[in-house]
Amino acid sequence: MVRGLLVAVGVLATTVCASASQAPQAPVKATFDGARAFEHLKAQVAIGPRPAGSTGIRQTRAYLTRQLTAMGLTVEEQPFVATTPIGPVEMVNLVTVLPGRRPERILLTGHYDTKLYKDIVFLGASDGASSAALLVELARVLKDQPREFTYEFVWFDGEEAIVEWDIDTDSTYGSRYYVQAAQKAGALARIKAMILVDMIGHRDLQIERDSHSAVWLTDIIWSTARRLGHGNIFRDVLTTIEDDHVHFVRAGIPSVDIIDLNHFIARGHWHTVSDDLNAVSAQSLQIVGDVLVAALPDIEQYLGAQGL
Ligand SMILES: [Zn+2]
Repeated sequence: MVRGLLVAVGVLATTVCASASQAPQAPVKATFDGARAFEHLKAQVAIGPRPAGSTGIRQTRAYLTRQLTAMGLTVEEQPFVATTPIGPVEMVNLVTVLPGRRPERILLTGHYDTKLYKDIVFLGASDGASSAALLVELARVLKDQPREFTYEFVWFDGEEAIVEWDIDTDSTYGSRYYVQAAQKAGALARIKAMILVDMIGHRDLQIERDSHSAVWLTDIIWSTARRLGHGNIFRDVLTTIEDDHVHFVRAGIPSVDIIDLNHFIARGHWHTVSDDLNAVSAQSLQIVGDVLVAALPDIEQYLGAQGL
């Protein structure tokens, strides 16, 4: 609270001085806009189901690319053919890079596919759309801010299992491919941290610490959440999550998964028709966005202090 107050007073003083001296006003620092992120979520849900290889996911890719290029960002496609239990499926990861003063990277990631169902219309408002939406808004907020590290945004395709979840054979196709490709290209060593968001749109958001995630990275994000008054959402409960970050963890990259899985399951929304617009809120996207924007400088500082 004290810190927030000081910042507000500082901004006020700057504004008064600037107008008094007729000096040009400094550009207003972009802040994360949960309503704007929610518009990206709604646009994806409006497309309908978006499983890997479908018309829906192609439309989603086009939407995400349009939003990012309209901001002046360059979107690279990382296409690959995944070997799945139902045969080969064409998948595409999307990548946007915000160069920093240093070439070493912090990855900001999430998946944009939804789980394949033949018998229900699965919209994946939180499970799929929320992560993709939050990353688009985060890119908008961060693109014009100075940073030490290079930020790389990755939208993973094919996180969902096509038949039955298996972290090595049927699921996390995009992240598995990304890590393999980076390994081959010798590009893994420059990735110093990986942040994954997944299912963070739940209107009754409850995020638990994950045992695969790096403790220091989790600590920074959770303490930032407490400082911003969101300690009731970022809970000090430990669970174990298999998700896109696991392949990065295995490759030795400090990673963190920010996910509401257990509470979403408990509410009956996980992989059901009720993962729709009624299950999600702009406020939840706002909270996670605010926490990440505030935590990133501390993550960069930690990495710098470690000599990384
Ligand atoms: Zn899912």
